[in-house]
Amino acid sequence: MTAPVVRFAPSPTGKLHVGNVRTALINWLFAKGQTGGEQGQFILRIDDTDTERSTQPYEDGLKADLTWLGLVWDDTFNQSKRFDQYDAAADKLRGMGLLYACYETADELDRKRKIALSRGRPPVYDRSALNLTDEDKAKLEAEGRKPHWRFKLSGDRVEWNDLVRGPQSIDTSSVSDPVLIREDGSYLYTLPSVVDDIEAKITHVVRGEDHVTNSGAQIEIFKALGGTAPDMAHTPLLVDAEGGAFSKRLGSLSMDTLEARGILPMAILSLLAKLGTSDNIEVRSDLATLAAEFDFSKIGRAPAKFDEKDLLALNAVLVHDLPFEAVRADLERIAPDAANEAFWLAVRENCETVHDAKPFADIAYGTISSVIDDEDADFIAEARNRLPEGELTSESWKAWTTELKEATGRKGKGLFMPLRKALTGQEHGPDMSVIFPLIGREAAERRLSRA
Ligand code: GLU
Repeated sequence: MTAPVVRFAPSPTGKLHVGNVRTALINWLFAKGQTGGEQGQFILRIDDTDTERSTQPYEDGLKADLTWLGLVWDDTFNQSKRFDQYDAAADKLRGMGLLYACYETADELDRKRKIALSRGRPPVYDRSALNLTDEDKAKLEAEGRKPHWRFKLSGDRVEWNDLVRGPQSIDTSSVSDPVLIREDGSYLYTLPSVVDDIEAKITHVVRGEDHVTNSGAQIEIFKALGGTAPDMAHTPLLVDAEGGAFSKRLGSLSMDTLEARGILPMAILSLLAKLGTSDNIEVRSDLATLAAEFDFSKIGRAPAKFDEKDLLALNAVLVHDLPFEAVRADLERIAPDAANEAFWLAVRENCETVHDAKPFADIAYGTISSVIDDEDADFIAEARNRLPEGELTSESWKAWTTELKEATGRKGKGLFMPLRKALTGQEHGPDMSVIFPLIGREAAERRLSRA
């Protein structure tokens, strides 16, 4: 196979979230996972034809997010710089009689749809604008109406072999001729996308299955403009853990939010690469491995369930192995006193994200108000006297509490809770065997003494 050229085409009208990152990732993995021969190209196309809603900060943000994830692009361009090319393509289609002016208002179209439905017919645009004479059009324009422009579908079936969905067939007589240009002259996404895909020599269009119907019209536009249509792959959409629509939750699943929560790129990428595929959901340490394992045939037809619990579980696997150097900067920010290697190596097994180290740091190095109830005072005094000799280690907690159990007859909650409350000031908290050596002898002695 010749090297694929794919594109990821976000609109800079919001932040990147796990849904669109998955589309970017699948494109990237396909392009970069080719064995033998040349590597594919991954192009970042910025779909900013909607100049009102597109913003530079969103564009900068999505580029920063893709870079953070390691999804580097070979080339990038903005649709907003290419209106001349879209105008030329529109003229070409007009010249071929495939782009026609329509003057119906939104209300009129709505009425037509309702009438069609009430007669048991599909609400497909009736093409009455094709019957307008030049005089009719001049009259409408004199009344102040401006045209919107529709592409004339062939009425035939459009067929393609989708790399994920298998053989597809869309009967273009059952869909409305799509509007390509609005009344105000602005382009909908349909035509610019095809013009760019032809010019960038895109070999595979890989996107969510919400675009399947668009593909019917777009394949006809590809052909009309003299190109052959690229191969297509439409992936099932992400749904939430309960199988519900996902859009409400997306705000909390933007890349910047996940990064701020301490979620690592490879946890996100591993989950998104494996979700909804026949592979197990397991963490991978680099994109090259995910690319080598990628294949369209592994992607199933059912919606892919995105569960934050899976994300945290994968993140935890990565965090447990992170060396101190990898978290030093984060620790310096979150808990400056705890930015030392011994601390990190002691607590990392207990952390799903680096932020989980914070409660350990507060207890180990912060100022706590020791709690010693009257009925425990003698027991705590005994405990202080029996503190293990020398430096406290990961074995010390077990040794100390075993000795105290034998010496005092206390067990279970009666044994552990007073020690926890005296040493941490709280009834709940991190694993004491981890925290005890971090508190250290000196502070432990202090905390076990009544003020
Ligand atoms: N900007 C379009 C979207 O985000 C691109 C779709 C496509 O990949 O063709 O839906």
